[in-house]
Amino acid sequence: MTFRQAQGHPEHSEKGRRVTPSRESEMVLVTGGAGFIGSHLCDALIERGYKVICVDNFITGSRENIEHLLDDEKFELVEHDITVPFSSLIPTPSSLKCIFHLASPASPVDYSAFSIETLIVNSLGTYNVLEVAREGGAKVLLASTSEVYGDPKVSPQSEDYWGNVNPVGPRACYDEAKRFAEALTVAYHRRYGLDVVIVRIFNTFGPRMRGKDGRVVPNFIQQALSNKPLTVYGDGSQTRSFCYIDDLIDGLLKAMFSKGTTGEIINLGNPNEMTILSLAEHIKEMCKSSSEMVFLPLPEDDPLQRRPDISRAERLLGWKPKISLDEGLTRTIEWFLKGKA
Ligand code: NAD
Ligand code: UDP
Repeated sequence: MTFRQAQGHPEHSEKGRRVTPSRESEMVLVTGGAGFIGSHLCDALIERGYKVICVDNFITGSRENIEHLLDDEKFELVEHDITVPFSSLIPTPSSLKCIFHLASPASPVDYSAFSIETLIVNSLGTYNVLEVAREGGAKVLLASTSEVYGDPKVSPQSEDYWGNVNPVGPRACYDEAKRFAEALTVAYHRRYGLDVVIVRIFNTFGPRMRGKDGRVVPNFIQQALSNKPLTVYGDGSQTRSFCYIDDLIDGLLKAMFSKGTTGEIINLGNPNEMTILSLAEHIKEMCKSSSEMVFLPLPEDDPLQRRPDISRAERLLGWKPKISLDEGLTRTIEWFLKGKA
């Protein structure tokens, strides 16, 4: 049995439509291109002269994120669920230079609400992406996550660490889905010699994060700006390391386009680790807010520490984050002040 036969043909879907080929520029596919990271990536690719096909079903992304690109001749939006095969929506798969595979709910609130969708997009959706790549020989970058390390017992986390994941806990739908996506991607590389690179993205923030996606930076900024209590989960001693979106996009482009990344697994994130309580205090101060702190129960399996070891990214890509937490927060707060979330 093939998944393609079982799922029907995308040309028969109401929303799917064939994309017009372009001879002038190299074509890049971005799954999840209407999301937070994906939309910034589409911007960066277009700026660099690529023709971009963005495939998204808007389950957690939004049209507003890519609205400014819709009239650009180098940009094509294909509204489609990638768990349904989509190779016939691409002019000729051999015209694709590469695929950035980002489609997946990403915030704990989103993947709890869409647990099965998250499992299916990372398994069946990833399979469909890899098959499109195999047809035409495109390179695939899989957007994986620091969550594959679970609640890590070692710090910082290097790519060789296998992780500490609860396979049946509330985060399993995301963690195990991404671990499966990694295993499938590696299997295509081993069996077919497909050109692949896996990046494990650590907490990233910036403009275009949805106000309601429940992640800590948008929550704290909105709460601080409206002088409402900042909701710290647990005692706030758990740590995270926050990377600004522009640095991450630079890392994603380097991971895809640098020589010598085939078959590699690369952490991308900012090693600047801090407690969640200190992040709350910092955002409150930056917003000149009179908010109080309220301490709410720590969600089950919430990782207690997270910090990337980025020595591999530094060595292979010559990449490390350049934008400070303060600079990134200033830009993000300004964006929220414009009321676009
Ligand atoms: P996001 O929710 O803003 O974007 C995900 C996009 O994928 C959305 O536009 C959504 O509509 C789309 N999508 C989901 N399922 C789809 C499907 N079946 N078919 C088509 N499109 C679908 O999330 P994000 O923060 O931009 O994350 C993007 C990627 O980066 C995800 O794969 C996520 O796991 C990974 N990642 C993000 C972070 C982070 O801090 N933001 C950290 C680690 C990993
Ligand atoms: N968190 C918090 N208050 C909030 C949202 C999140 O204290 O309003 C905590 C959460 O428990 C976790 C950290 O902030 O320890 C980061 O959460 P987020 O959902 O942003 O991403 P995660 O790293 O858990 O995927």
